[in-house]
Formats: sequence, C-alpha cells, structure tokens
Amino acid sequence: MNNRQLFLQHVAQTSPAPLAIEIVKAKGTKLWDKQGKEYIDLIAGISVCNVGHRNPKVVKAIKKQADDYLHLLVYGEFIETPEVQYAKMLTDHLPASLNSVYFTNSGAEATEGAMKLAKRFTGRPNIIAFNKSYHGSTQGALSIIGDEYFRNAYRPLLPGIKHLEYNSHEAIDAIDEQTACVILETVQAEKGVYAPSLEWMNSLRQKCTETGTLLILDEIQTGFGRTGSLWGFEQYYITPDIVLLGKALGGGMPLGAFIADKKIMNSFTENPVLGHITTFGGHPVCCAAGMAAMKFLLKNKLIESVKEKEFLFRALLKHPKIQHVRSRGLLMAIEFDSFDTNKKVIDACIMKGVLTDWFLFGANCMRIAPPLTISKKEIERACEIIVEVCNSL
Ligand code: PLP
Repeated sequence: MNNRQLFLQHVAQTSPAPLAIEIVKAKGTKLWDKQGKEYIDLIAGISVCNVGHRNPKVVKAIKKQADDYLHLLVYGEFIETPEVQYAKMLTDHLPASLNSVYFTNSGAEATEGAMKLAKRFTGRPNIIAFNKSYHGSTQGALSIIGDEYFRNAYRPLLPGIKHLEYNSHEAIDAIDEQTACVILETVQAEKGVYAPSLEWMNSLRQKCTETGTLLILDEIQTGFGRTGSLWGFEQYYITPDIVLLGKALGGGMPLGAFIADKKIMNSFTENPVLGHITTFGGHPVCCAAGMAAMKFLLKNKLIESVKEKEFLFRALLKHPKIQHVRSRGLLMAIEFDSFDTNKKVIDACIMKGVLTDWFLFGANCMRIAPPLTISKKEIERACEIIVEVCNSL
C-alpha cells in the first residue's frame, strides 16, 4: 500500500474528503509535496505558523532543548527553564493582571482549564457562550461550541450553558450573579471573521466587572499578531480576566495556555489540590520553540507589517464573484455566494499551488491567514491565482 492508502486505512478519518496532499518539506510560506509541487500557504496550519514554517530560530531552539532534556515529570513539579522563561516572557507582554500561566497541550485543553477555573474561583454554576463560536472539540469545549449541528450528536453535554448572540445587548443583559464566566473569541474566526463593536466589548467588560463574572477571551487564533496587534483585545482597550492561547503559542509545536491573575489561578492549589492536571503541558521543547517564535515575532517587528499586508490582499482581491472581504489583520474571510462556488475556487487554487480552505461555520468564505512573514511578492502571486480562478468560473 502507498502512503495515501495507509493514511486512509490507518489514520482515523474524521473528514469525508481530506485534502490528502503529502507534504514533504515546508519553509517560510512555502510547502512542497511528494511530487515536488510548490504551494503558497495561505492558512499557516490554521493560524499556527505565524513566524513561518520551520523558522530557523524555532528549529535551533528545538534542537538545543532536545540536547538538554525532553519530558521530565508531570506539570508543575520541576523548575523547567523553557517553561519558566516563556511564562515570564508572556506575562511581560500582557497586562499586569494576567500574570500566572498554566501551559496545556492544546487550545481545547486551555478552554477546559479556564472553564474549570472560573467555576472554582466564583463558585457559580453558569457559563455564557456565543452562537457560532469555536473553542475546541473536547466535551467541555464542545458544550460551549456555538453550533447545534456539532453539539447535538454528543448530548448530554455540560449543564448551565447559555448560547447567545455575539455582539448583542441581549447577551450583556443575561449576565448575572450566577454567571461564572462569559467566554468568547475576541474576533469570531470560524464564523468567517466577525469582529464585535468597541462599545459592545466595553459594555461586556463592564457588566462582568459589576456582577463578579470572569471575562474569558479566546485568543487562540487572534493572538501573536494575527489581527495587527500582539493580542486582539488590545484593539478594544479592555483586559480579560482569563486569556486563552494556543496555535501560534508553540511556534509550530503543540502548546496551549490559560493565563489569569495569581489570585484567581491559586484556586487550583487547595481543596482539592491539583485543580488541573496534565502530564505533558508546558513540555520543554514546545516552550523553547514557542519562546523562540515569540522573540522572532517581536524582534523582527512582524506585527507592524500586518496591516499593510492586509490592505494589499484587500486591494488585490477585488472581483465580481467576491461578495465581501472581512478582515482583522491577516485573519481574512473572502465571501462567495455559496459553498459550491467557494469550494470550486479553493480546489482550483490548490491545483494551481495556493493552499487555502473554508471556515467551520462559514462554508461560503475562503480563509486567508498566512504566516505573518509572507512577502509582498507572495501575496501578489497568490492573489493573481485567486483572481485567475475567479475569472475561470
Ligand atoms: N479556540 C479557537 C478560537 C480555535 O480556533 C481553536 C482551534 O481551531 C481552538 C480554540 C481549539 O484549539 P485546539 O485545536 O488546539 O484544541
């Protein structure tokens, strides 16, 4: 059997139509398949490879850490330099109240930990989440996912969860003294890039403060410069009580985190002890890789170029078949009239060497979320191909 057959036979399949492209090498914004075909990657492993694939600084940090030690012990016992240093670096670049980092293995696990922490700290039963939100696929994260099609097959799910309309006054009115937390993406990515209004975010912050409800912002896609600032919430001039990180956090290695004030996080320390447990969370190689990626992001001022690149995409992606372009930095949704049109464009783009896909809850929207290192020339070439494909429809 060849690798494709083995993939279909032995790797658990959750998609009825996986891309099944066999990539053998990646560098920067480029991928190469087994046949030597080159792709411009417009999705960065879904907002993961912000500093490019196989960034040399990240690879060097991984190799160095692999020479020192790999896994030593379960989370939170030994002092592991990469974890300590990365926690320090993250908190140095966050508001003062976000000063304690719990590293997990994935975004979903960060969501789970934060939901537990909010219940534990407030002693309250209820959670408010939003329609068309995505926070992961484990049972707790699935319970707050904002889509009935995905939720319904797994009932019973967690009780005490209300799904409301993002950016609506109804949602703010629903927060009360029984609400442990409100959890939302700073920009709803999988709906097809919807950003809430400044006023709404500020009213939400205010109502949470008034009722003693924790505000959890999921920055798993929007973090690390994706939207044009280091954290998406900076553009709303608010600070969450807990922030969730993942994806680009590990520089291409698996890593998630939930970050809060120490006085909130300390609720995990007693009665019962070990409020959240993980064997691998904060893995030294992942933390070393993530820290190298963050250093590269900041040192090379990648975030400063995000807006300019966003505008270039927007200027080049004008076509009668494109109905709307929604974007926050390099998190962009190109809207077509239907999934059918979108899929045709995506498939043809892949044939022509531009890798993109659609959104979980925005099937008629094409995703553009490339490495932030993408060059002007690569943007021009990718857009030329997208427009060429649109012309051919
Ligand atoms: N939150 C958001 C906004 C996401 O986009 C994702 C993944 O796509 C997650 C959470 C879950 O992260 P993971 O797939 O690492 O569990």
